[in-house]
Amino acid sequence: MRILILGGTTEASELARLSAGDQRFSPTLALAGRIAAPAQFPIPCRVGGFGGAERLADWLDAEHIRAVVDATHPFAARISANARAAAQRRELPLLVLRRDPWKLTDGDRWVRVPDIDAAVAELGLGAQRVFLTIGRQHVGAFRAAPQHDYLVRCIEPPAPNALPPRCRLLLHRGPFDIEAEGELLQAQAIDVVVAKNSGGAATYAKIAAARRLGLPVIMIERPVEPAGATVRSARAAMDWLSYLLGHDHKGVASERGV
Ligand code: NAP
Repeated sequence: MRILILGGTTEASELARLSAGDQRFSPTLALAGRIAAPAQFPIPCRVGGFGGAERLADWLDAEHIRAVVDATHPFAARISANARAAAQRRELPLLVLRRDPWKLTDGDRWVRVPDIDAAVAELGLGAQRVFLTIGRQHVGAFRAAPQHDYLVRCIEPPAPNALPPRCRLLLHRGPFDIEAEGELLQAQAIDVVVAKNSGGAATYAKIAAARRLGLPVIMIERPVEPAGATVRSARAAMDWLSYLLGHDHKGVASERGV
């Protein structure tokens, strides 16, 4: 069965690995192409946008895709909406593979905000030392609060003109560990952490380290979760794909064993 995995996450990579080892499936992994040197994957990989929902639907037709797994990041709302629209148009089954959000724990000092602009406003007027760990795409929004000192951490650098004026850049890819995160927060005399509620283990250490040091975290909440079938792990996604093979859906069953 030919499947499309929309990726860019640890879970998508894990599903790529699991499905590569299962001869019942012929998976393709799609990446947006934001990272110049993405990891290597054991399945065919397609890099770059499709050109919107209708073009994605056309691509699904052309590639004889029988099921779509949206394993994109919880904050990647546009591609998720496109995936839903395209799957609906072609009457294809769609599964959302999305990790759980982080949950507030005793000792956490979170201020929950709905979006990036609210996070900027929440920093307030007085100058603070801010650890900004929201990826590189929306760093530019913090130029609206130039009174703060920012330590910006991302995988690849944002455009220079997107950075706030008082800013240092750290280029690192996770996973991170709690001891090192604690040392960083202390060495940089950070007053407040700004993070997206991405969930998962790879970047949780900064949240745990902030808790340990009693630092506040401005936590940007996720966009509304896409509706429909959702699982939380790559293994559960494999179960869903196996279930599909056993049930009639647009010729899926007839492809069993192909
Ligand atoms: P987005 O706003 O939802 O998507 C913007 C456009 O990028 C989409 O309309 C689509 O272009 C293209 N695109 C996104 N994901 C794609 C994929 N997996 N395969 C092919 N095209 C894709 O997404 P984003 O927030 O820019 O995130 C881009 C990618 O980075 C996502 O794949 C996501 O999983 C990953 N990521 C995002 C974050 C985050 O915080 N947003 C964090 C870590 C990883 P067309 O309309 O032209 O098809």
